[in-house]
Amino acid sequence: MARSSQEIIALFDKYVIPNYTRYPVALTHGEGPFVYDAEGNRYIDFFPGWGCNMFGHSPKPVVKALEGQVERLLHVPNSWYMEEQGVWAELLSERSFGGKAFFCNSGAEANEAAIKLARLHTPKGKYKIITFYNSFHGRTMATVTATAQEKYHQGLEPLLPGFTYCKFGDLAGVEAAIDDETAAIMVEPIQGEGGVNMPPDGFLQGLRDLCDKHGLLLIFDEVQTGCGRTGRWFAYQYFGVTPDVMTLAKTICSGVAAGAMLCKQELAPSLRRGMHASTFGGNPVAASAGIATIKMVEEFGYLDMATKMGEHIKARMNEWKKRMDIIADVRGVAGMIGLELKIDGACFVQSCMENKVLINCTHGKVIRLLPAVNTPLDVLDEGLDVLEAALKKGA
Ligand SMILES: *Cc1c(COP(=O)(O)O)cnc(C)c1O
Repeated sequence: MARSSQEIIALFDKYVIPNYTRYPVALTHGEGPFVYDAEGNRYIDFFPGWGCNMFGHSPKPVVKALEGQVERLLHVPNSWYMEEQGVWAELLSERSFGGKAFFCNSGAEANEAAIKLARLHTPKGKYKIITFYNSFHGRTMATVTATAQEKYHQGLEPLLPGFTYCKFGDLAGVEAAIDDETAAIMVEPIQGEGGVNMPPDGFLQGLRDLCDKHGLLLIFDEVQTGCGRTGRWFAYQYFGVTPDVMTLAKTICSGVAAGAMLCKQELAPSLRRGMHASTFGGNPVAASAGIATIKMVEEFGYLDMATKMGEHIKARMNEWKKRMDIIADVRGVAGMIGLELKIDGACFVQSCMENKVLINCTHGKVIRLLPAVNTPLDVLDEGLDVLEAALKKGA
C-alpha cells in the first residue's frame, strides 16, 4: 500500500470512471490544516475536503469518538432506535429552530428529502419549487433540476418537472413567478458553488414574507453554510431569517459522510411513515461524528474563531485589492471567502498547488476558500502569502 502518485493515477485510468477533473496528485494522510501526498509533500489546505472538513484533517476529538463507536456498533438500520441518532437530532434541534431531523448521507439526499417534504406537505396540485440561477443543490435528478445552471443539465433531459428559476436577489421576479401551483422556495443563504454570492440586503427576509403571504415553505440549503461556517451555527441566524426547512451535509460530521434535513415541528408529520427512507441515514458512526463535531465547536469556541479568521483573510485580500487591478471583489464571511477576479482563476489554483497550497476556483473567476476554522494564524498567513505571490505574478 505504498504506491506513488503515478501508480495510483494508473489504477484510476484503468478502473475508475473518469467523471471528475482530478489534480495529478494522490493524497495519503492529513493532520489539521496540512495534507500530504504519496511523495511526502506537505500542502496547506484552504479547501479541506471540499469544505467538509471543518476542523481540517482527522481532528482528534472526532477520531476518538469514532474509534469508540466503531468498536461498539457500526450500523443498525432505521427499523430500530439508537441513542446516538436521537442525541444528534436533539443537539441540532436545540441549536436551530427546535424542529425535527431526518438523516441521510449527502447534501443531495438532504435536498431530495426537502423537495419530497414540500410536495407531501402542500395541498394537492401544488408542487412547484422556485430556485435560483447560480444555485447548487446536488446531482440527483431532482436536485440537479433544482440547480439552475445549464451546464449541469446537458444531456440529462427531460428534467424533473416543477422547478422555476429566478434571479438571486430579485424579489419582484420571485413574486411574479409564484402561481397557484407553487409549493416552496429553495435557496442557499449564501450561494457557494455559484461564486460565494451574498444575498442583497433584505432579500432573505423578503423571501420569508412572500412565503408567509402565499403559504409556501421556505427551504434553506445550508449544506455549505451550516454548522459554523458563517461564524453562527447556521447562516439563517447570521441573516436573522428563519426557514421552515433547512438542509445540512458537508461540515456536519467533520468529513464523515452524512446529511440531514431539519423541519419545523408542525411539518414533520408530512414526511409520513413509509414515504421516505435512507438505509444508512443517521447511522451510529455518522451520529457519533456529528455529536463530536458539535461538542468541538462549543468546547473550543470555533464560532468566534471562524468570524475572526474571516475578518483576517478579508482584511488581507482588501489590501491586495488596492494594489492589484485583477481583483474585482472580496466577499463572504467567517470560514467562507470569495475573491472575485477579472480574469479566469484556474491558473492560480495551479500555481498555488505547485507551491503547496490548496485552494478552489468556482464559477470561473472566483477564488473560494473554505479553510478549517482552527487554522493557526501563522499557517493561515503562510498560505495567504503564497496566494498573494501567485496573484501578483499573474497580474
Ligand atoms: C455540496 C452541496 C450540495 C450537494 O452535496 P453532496 O453531498 O455533494 O450531494 C448541495 N447544496 C450545496 C449548497 C452544496 O454546497
